[in-house]
Amino acid sequence: MNQNKIIYLDNNATTAVDPEVFEAMRPFFCERYGNPSSIHRFGGSVAADIEEARRQVASLLGTSFRDNDGNAAEIIFTSCGSEGDNAAINAAVTARPGRNKIVTTIVEHPGVLAYCRELSRRGYKIEYIPVDERGRLDLAYAERAIDESTAAVSVMWANNETGTIFPVETVAKMAHAKGALFHTDAVQAAGKVAIDLDSSEIDFLSISGHKLHAPKGVGALFVRKGTRFKPLIFGGHQEKGRRGGTENVASIIGLGRACEIARKNLVAENIQLTQLRNRLEEGVRERISHIRVNGDLENRLPNTSSISFEYIEGESILMLLDMMNICASSGSACTTGSLEPSHVLRAMGLPYTAAHGTIRFSLSKYNTAEEIDFVVEALPPIIERLRAISPYWEGRDK
Ligand code: PLP
Repeated sequence: MNQNKIIYLDNNATTAVDPEVFEAMRPFFCERYGNPSSIHRFGGSVAADIEEARRQVASLLGTSFRDNDGNAAEIIFTSCGSEGDNAAINAAVTARPGRNKIVTTIVEHPGVLAYCRELSRRGYKIEYIPVDERGRLDLAYAERAIDESTAAVSVMWANNETGTIFPVETVAKMAHAKGALFHTDAVQAAGKVAIDLDSSEIDFLSISGHKLHAPKGVGALFVRKGTRFKPLIFGGHQEKGRRGGTENVASIIGLGRACEIARKNLVAENIQLTQLRNRLEEGVRERISHIRVNGDLENRLPNTSSISFEYIEGESILMLLDMMNICASSGSACTTGSLEPSHVLRAMGLPYTAAHGTIRFSLSKYNTAEEIDFVVEALPPIIERLRAISPYWEGRDK
């Protein structure tokens, strides 16, 4: 295998734009660059392309609602997943005046967590549902936490670090039973698991383009028909007054096309990714001792593998992998100069020696068995070398 080629196993961080998506976007830069709000046909005709993209997003999310103009009006285009998360929670709490509690999970993405922290500074009470050592939600806790004072409940569909899938429909029902609105961050789930909003109780759902082979800087927020929606960004009348700002036309077209491709290939891609992921995990298990695979192994995204290589530092593993052109992520957040394990691994209660040596491999449709085999062969000497100099490893069996 050509070692100069990048082996990219960091697709939960971002994905390559699909060439077909890129081609769909291309005309909207230098040829059809008009503003969809313009009266002239040159600009105005672009609005029809945006509506087509909206329908493509709606189809991936399994929502068949169309307004009188045939538009999938439950979909609002945003700039990213984080904006969708913020906008949904903002809308939910605004729609439930007089209620001052938000219930979320301890393992959300900062797109939700940081916004909740901001709302706590504005007087909201935030309750965090814990997870067990496999990253599964404590549903009994959720049931107790969600009460008549709860305005919004936000639970991610799938966790970005471990791939663990959460029972969002169950929690949505709990929220509705108490009159609260329910949001899910489906940024990692969209395109990887079947989503059927027509038979769902979810009120808000956010996705992000760059996690499913569309470009960065575009996302979408589903707001169920009839749900009150207060915008986060005020401006022009774009997106029916629900999100000001001239549309990021090319990226919206790209997101639409990416959703269309993801929808058509969902089942086949799931099989391909699961096989590759299993090949990676089996290869690692056979060759390396003292490892653990994190998350809910029975219920997780097909592309994600969080592996703890015990008694060594994840960052050192990443650096040595990087020297071989292999890209992955660690389970640490490098904040304030100290390498603390991520909030997700800490919430799961992983022992210190495992949490620090955690690597997230996240695959995409562009990965091959040959690449996985290369990584499986590259890892053992790296781990052996690092364990040889690790004070925590000393004296342990191979
Ligand atoms: N939510 C989850 C679960 C994510 O993994 C990410 C990105 O890593 C986001 C939200 C944020 O998406 P964006 O980068 O588009 O703001």
